[in-house]
Amino acid sequence: MDIKEISYGEFPEICGLNKRFKPGGRKLKVVLDVFVPRSKKKINFSLIYRKLLKLLPTLERHKCGENLFNNLRNHKEIPSHKVEQITHIAHLIEHVIIDLQSNVTKLNSCSGITCGYKNPEHRFDLFIECKEEKVGKFSVFFAVDLVKRLLVGKSPSKRDFRLVKLVKYLYRRTSLLGLNQLISLQAKIASDLGWTKRSVVSLLRELENFGLLDSKKALPNLRSL
Ligand SMILES: [Zn+2]
Repeated sequence: MDIKEISYGEFPEICGLNKRFKPGGRKLKVVLDVFVPRSKKKINFSLIYRKLLKLLPTLERHKCGENLFNNLRNHKEIPSHKVEQITHIAHLIEHVIIDLQSNVTKLNSCSGITCGYKNPEHRFDLFIECKEEKVGKFSVFFAVDLVKRLLVGKSPSKRDFRLVKLVKYLYRRTSLLGLNQLISLQAKIASDLGWTKRSVVSLLRELENFGLLDSKKALPNLRSL
Protein backbone atom coordinates (compact mmCIF):
# COMPACT_ATOMS: atom_id res chain seq x y z
CA MET A 1 0.00 0.00 0.00
CA ASP A 2 1.42 3.31 -0.96
CA ILE A 3 0.00 6.82 -0.50
CA LYS A 4 1.12 8.69 -3.61
CA GLU A 5 -0.48 12.05 -2.87
CA ILE A 6 -2.88 13.79 -0.50
CA SER A 7 -4.47 17.10 -1.43
CA TYR A 8 -7.30 19.28 -0.12
CA GLY A 9 -9.80 21.32 -2.14
CA GLU A 10 -13.26 21.42 -3.69
CA PHE A 11 -12.64 19.24 -6.75
CA PRO A 12 -15.92 20.39 -8.44
CA GLU A 13 -15.20 18.11 -11.41
CA ILE A 14 -16.07 14.99 -9.42
CA CYS A 15 -19.20 16.29 -7.65
CA GLY A 16 -21.46 14.64 -10.23
CA LEU A 17 -20.10 11.21 -9.31
CA ASN A 18 -21.81 11.10 -5.93
CA LYS A 19 -25.09 12.95 -5.52
CA ARG A 20 -24.55 13.10 -1.75
CA PHE A 21 -21.54 15.45 -2.09
CA LYS A 22 -22.45 18.87 -0.66
CA PRO A 23 -22.00 21.65 -3.24
CA GLY A 24 -18.90 23.75 -2.53
CA GLY A 25 -17.73 21.43 0.25
CA ARG A 26 -14.02 20.84 0.82
CA LYS A 27 -12.64 17.38 0.21
CA LEU A 28 -9.54 15.31 0.63
CA LYS A 29 -8.14 13.68 -2.47
CA VAL A 30 -5.95 10.65 -1.84
CA VAL A 31 -4.07 8.88 -4.61
CA LEU A 32 -3.44 5.38 -3.39
CA ASP A 33 -1.63 2.36 -4.82
CA VAL A 34 -3.11 -0.84 -3.44
CA PHE A 35 -1.42 -4.23 -3.40
CA VAL A 36 -2.60 -7.53 -1.96
CA PRO A 37 0.03 -8.85 0.48
CA ARG A 38 2.02 -11.60 -1.25
CA SER A 39 1.33 -14.12 1.47
CA LYS A 40 -2.44 -13.67 1.08
CA LYS A 41 -4.20 -15.31 -1.84
CA LYS A 42 -7.57 -15.16 -0.13
CA ILE A 43 -8.61 -12.25 2.03
CA ASN A 44 -11.25 -12.71 4.69
CA PHE A 45 -12.91 -9.29 4.37
CA SER A 46 -15.67 -10.25 6.71
CA LEU A 47 -13.17 -10.91 9.51
CA ILE A 48 -11.34 -7.64 8.76
CA TYR A 49 -14.65 -5.80 8.93
CA ARG A 50 -15.52 -7.35 12.29
CA LYS A 51 -12.09 -6.36 13.66
CA LEU A 52 -12.57 -2.81 12.37
CA LEU A 53 -15.96 -2.56 14.06
CA LYS A 54 -14.31 -3.02 17.46
CA LEU A 55 -12.22 0.10 16.88
CA LEU A 56 -14.74 2.07 14.80
CA PRO A 57 -18.23 0.85 15.75
CA THR A 58 -20.00 3.57 13.74
CA LEU A 59 -18.81 1.87 10.52
CA GLU A 60 -21.97 -0.17 10.93
CA ARG A 61 -24.09 2.91 10.24
CA HIS A 62 -22.43 3.72 6.89
CA LYS A 63 -24.62 3.73 3.81
CA CYS A 64 -22.75 2.52 0.79
CA GLY A 65 -23.83 2.72 -2.83
CA GLU A 66 -21.70 -0.28 -3.72
CA ASN A 67 -23.26 -2.49 -1.05
CA LEU A 68 -19.79 -3.12 0.38
CA PHE A 69 -21.05 -3.26 3.93
CA ASN A 70 -24.17 -5.28 3.21
CA ASN A 71 -22.01 -7.90 1.56
CA LEU A 72 -19.63 -7.99 4.51
CA ARG A 73 -22.42 -8.19 7.06
CA ASN A 74 -24.22 -10.96 5.24
CA HIS A 75 -21.00 -12.91 4.55
CA LYS A 76 -21.75 -13.01 0.86
CA GLU A 77 -19.07 -14.33 -1.42
CA ILE A 78 -16.11 -12.00 -1.55
CA PRO A 79 -14.57 -11.51 -4.99
CA SER A 80 -11.39 -13.41 -5.57
CA HIS A 81 -10.24 -11.69 -8.76
CA LYS A 82 -7.23 -9.51 -8.06
CA VAL A 83 -8.68 -6.24 -9.38
CA GLU A 84 -11.88 -6.79 -7.43
CA GLN A 85 -9.86 -7.50 -4.29
CA ILE A 86 -7.80 -4.34 -4.51
CA THR A 87 -10.93 -2.32 -5.30
CA HIS A 88 -12.49 -3.74 -2.15
CA ILE A 89 -9.41 -2.77 -0.12
CA ALA A 90 -9.38 0.80 -1.50
CA HIS A 91 -13.09 1.14 -0.82
CA LEU A 92 -12.70 -0.17 2.73
CA ILE A 93 -9.93 2.38 3.36
CA GLU A 94 -12.26 5.14 2.11
CA HIS A 95 -14.84 4.12 4.71
CA VAL A 96 -12.25 3.92 7.53
CA ILE A 97 -11.08 7.46 6.69
CA ILE A 98 -14.69 8.72 6.59
CA ASP A 99 -15.51 7.12 9.92
CA LEU A 100 -12.44 8.28 11.78
CA GLN A 101 -12.40 11.90 10.69
CA SER A 102 -16.15 12.42 10.92
CA ASN A 103 -16.15 11.01 14.44
CA VAL A 104 -13.30 13.29 15.50
CA THR A 105 -14.70 16.47 13.95
CA LYS A 106 -18.36 15.55 14.60
CA LEU A 107 -19.62 15.68 11.03
CA ASN A 108 -23.32 14.89 10.69
CA SER A 109 -22.73 13.37 7.30
CA CYS A 110 -19.69 12.67 5.19
CA SER A 111 -19.61 11.24 1.69
CA GLY A 112 -16.84 9.84 -0.40
CA ILE A 113 -16.06 7.99 -3.58
CA THR A 114 -13.36 5.57 -4.70
CA CYS A 115 -12.37 5.73 -8.37
CA GLY A 116 -10.13 3.08 -9.91
CA TYR A 117 -7.64 3.86 -12.69
CA LYS A 118 -7.69 1.81 -15.87
CA ASN A 119 -3.94 2.02 -15.95
CA PRO A 120 -2.26 1.26 -13.64
CA GLU A 121 -5.13 -0.81 -12.31
CA HIS A 122 -3.73 -0.87 -8.75
CA ARG A 123 -4.14 2.94 -8.47
CA PHE A 124 -7.19 4.69 -6.98
CA ASP A 125 -8.37 8.23 -6.34
CA LEU A 126 -10.35 8.60 -3.13
CA PHE A 127 -12.41 11.77 -2.62
CA ILE A 128 -13.77 12.34 0.87
CA GLU A 129 -15.64 15.31 2.32
CA CYS A 130 -13.50 16.82 5.07
CA LYS A 131 -13.92 19.74 7.48
CA GLU A 132 -10.40 19.80 8.98
CA GLU A 133 -7.51 19.13 6.66
CA LYS A 134 -5.12 18.05 9.44
CA VAL A 135 -7.56 15.55 10.92
CA GLY A 136 -8.34 14.29 7.42
CA LYS A 137 -4.67 13.72 6.63
CA PHE A 138 -4.08 12.00 9.96
CA SER A 139 -7.06 9.73 9.19
CA VAL A 140 -5.55 8.81 5.81
CA PHE A 141 -2.18 7.78 7.32
CA PHE A 142 -3.87 5.96 10.17
CA ALA A 143 -6.39 4.12 7.95
CA VAL A 144 -3.80 2.93 5.43
CA ASP A 145 -1.42 1.74 8.14
CA LEU A 146 -4.26 -0.03 9.99
CA VAL A 147 -5.78 -1.78 6.97
CA LYS A 148 -2.31 -2.89 5.90
CA ARG A 149 -1.86 -4.67 9.25
CA LEU A 150 -5.35 -6.17 9.20
CA LEU A 151 -4.70 -7.60 5.73
CA VAL A 152 -1.82 -9.68 7.09
CA GLY A 153 -3.99 -11.08 9.87
CA LYS A 154 -3.32 -8.66 12.74
CA SER A 155 -5.96 -7.02 14.92
CA PRO A 156 -6.26 -3.36 16.01
CA SER A 157 -3.69 -2.84 18.77
CA LYS A 158 -3.96 -1.09 22.13
CA ARG A 159 -2.02 1.77 20.52
CA ASP A 160 -4.69 2.10 17.80
CA PHE A 161 -7.47 2.35 20.38
CA ARG A 162 -5.48 4.90 22.38
CA LEU A 163 -4.55 7.03 19.37
CA VAL A 164 -8.21 7.26 18.29
CA LYS A 165 -9.29 8.16 21.82
CA LEU A 166 -6.51 10.73 22.22
CA VAL A 167 -7.25 12.46 18.91
CA LYS A 168 -10.94 12.77 19.81
CA TYR A 169 -10.02 14.13 23.25
CA LEU A 170 -7.48 16.64 21.92
CA TYR A 171 -9.78 17.88 19.17
CA ARG A 172 -12.55 18.57 21.67
CA ARG A 173 -10.50 19.89 24.58
CA THR A 174 -7.46 21.66 23.20
CA SER A 175 -8.05 22.32 19.49
CA LEU A 176 -4.83 20.45 18.68
CA LEU A 177 -2.16 22.65 20.23
CA GLY A 178 1.55 22.24 19.54
CA LEU A 179 3.52 19.32 20.95
CA ASN A 180 5.33 21.32 23.64
CA GLN A 181 2.11 22.91 24.88
CA LEU A 182 0.48 19.49 25.06
CA ILE A 183 3.47 17.97 26.83
CA SER A 184 3.09 20.67 29.48
CA LEU A 185 -0.50 19.42 29.93
CA GLN A 186 0.53 15.76 30.15
CA ALA A 187 -0.53 15.33 33.80
CA LYS A 188 -4.04 16.64 33.07
CA ILE A 189 -4.41 14.52 29.91
CA ALA A 190 -3.10 11.43 31.72
CA SER A 191 -5.52 11.89 34.60
CA ASP A 192 -8.50 12.58 32.27
CA LEU A 193 -7.82 9.47 30.20
CA GLY A 194 -6.56 7.23 33.00
CA TRP A 195 -3.18 6.56 31.32
CA THR A 196 0.39 7.10 32.52
CA LYS A 197 2.09 10.42 31.67
CA ARG A 198 4.77 8.45 29.84
CA SER A 199 2.22 6.82 27.58
CA VAL A 200 0.57 10.21 26.89
CA VAL A 201 3.90 11.76 25.88
CA SER A 202 4.78 8.86 23.61
CA LEU A 203 1.39 8.97 21.85
CA LEU A 204 1.63 12.77 21.50
CA ARG A 205 4.97 12.33 19.75
CA GLU A 206 3.34 9.85 17.36
CA LEU A 207 0.60 12.34 16.58
CA GLU A 208 3.21 14.99 15.86
CA ASN A 209 4.87 12.60 13.41
CA PHE A 210 1.48 12.07 11.75
CA GLY A 211 1.45 15.86 11.14
CA LEU A 212 -1.61 16.38 13.33
CA LEU A 213 -0.25 18.79 15.92
CA ASP A 214 0.70 22.41 15.33
CA SER A 215 4.30 22.19 14.33
CA LYS A 216 6.60 23.33 11.58
CA LYS A 217 7.73 19.76 11.14
CA ALA A 218 6.92 18.20 7.78
CA LEU A 219 4.53 15.31 7.33
CA PRO A 220 6.06 11.86 7.80
CA ASN A 221 7.76 10.17 4.92
CA LEU A 222 4.80 8.74 3.00
CA ARG A 223 6.69 5.61 2.03
CA SER A 224 7.57 4.80 5.61
CA LEU A 225 3.97 3.67 6.17
ZN1 LIG B 1 -18.87 2.80 -0.05
